[in-house]
Amino acid sequence: MKHVFICIFLLFTWITFAQDKYVLVIHGGAGSVNKANMSVENQQAYQDALTSSLLAGYEEILKGNSAVDAVEKSIIILENSPLFNAGKGAVFTHEGLNELDASVMFGKTQSAGAVAGVKSIKNPILAARAVMEKSPHVLLSREGAEQFAAEQGLEIVENSYFFSQPAYDAWQRVQKSEKEKSMKSENSDNKFGTVGAVALDFDGNLAAGTSTGGMTNKRWGRIGDSPVIGAGTYANEQVGISSTGWGEFYIRVVAAYDVAAQIKYSKTSLSEAVKNTLASIKELGGNGGMIALDKNGEMTAQYNTQGMFRAAITENGKILIEF
Ligand code: ASP
Repeated sequence: MKHVFICIFLLFTWITFAQDKYVLVIHGGAGSVNKANMSVENQQAYQDALTSSLLAGYEEILKGNSAVDAVEKSIIILENSPLFNAGKGAVFTHEGLNELDASVMFGKTQSAGAVAGVKSIKNPILAARAVMEKSPHVLLSREGAEQFAAEQGLEIVENSYFFSQPAYDAWQRVQKSEKEKSMKSENSDNKFGTVGAVALDFDGNLAAGTSTGGMTNKRWGRIGDSPVIGAGTYANEQVGISSTGWGEFYIRVVAAYDVAAQIKYSKTSLSEAVKNTLASIKELGGNGGMIALDKNGEMTAQYNTQGMFRAAITENGKILIEF
């Protein structure tokens, strides 16, 4: 009998310690992501970019820096890569330009910052952070946001810096088929590709951030969910969330906050909360994905599109990458 108790105790201990505590989760967008259709080189390129992003954020965590630092460093890597629809790889607008949106939120203080429709800020996530920390505002847009970023000493580039051939080709395809379709019915999965990160630092604080070029062929100054706090990004003391998908629907269901609210008010589990929110989006006719990380280091990455680039790292440095 004594041995049975010892065995149960050891098993319980093993299960407790075997549970991975995640400190950083990232995404590189949801949409028509299909690994089977990708060349080996392409798969490797995504794998490398996601790994570098995770490691950049993880380094901040290990140094004891804040979750905001980890989110920022992770997102910068993805913004600087032409593989994702954010920063360098941003999609094209109807007019053939690149207009970027980004946001960040620190859970402990629920402070937040965002920029929308910016055309010349190399790393919009840095501008979002500067809005959060160095301005009395939450959301700045277009020329005003660019002026603010320049005053903060952030790197300013020509709009042509954001040119990438795949994003340009995708825009050309959409332009061609535009005559046959109405703007409203234009939801091809391959227009997504936003990046996001959620981190949990050693002080137990959460932060979340999202950065995007929006949706291919967007016009009339269209702004999606990514810079909208509560839709594209949200963090409080319990959970951090970053969204990717058809932004209009994420705004309409206040997606990121919807997840946080379920956890706060009805004690829904993390995974169930994200599942419910994605179901609400689907019910309205939208699609996409979300990542979430809670104060216990539990994470979830879910989507209702063909695929989603997603990756996470545990406090012990164990890496998980899927797409
Ligand atoms: N959510 C972004 C937007 O609607 C697009 C994306 O996630 O790729 O602007």
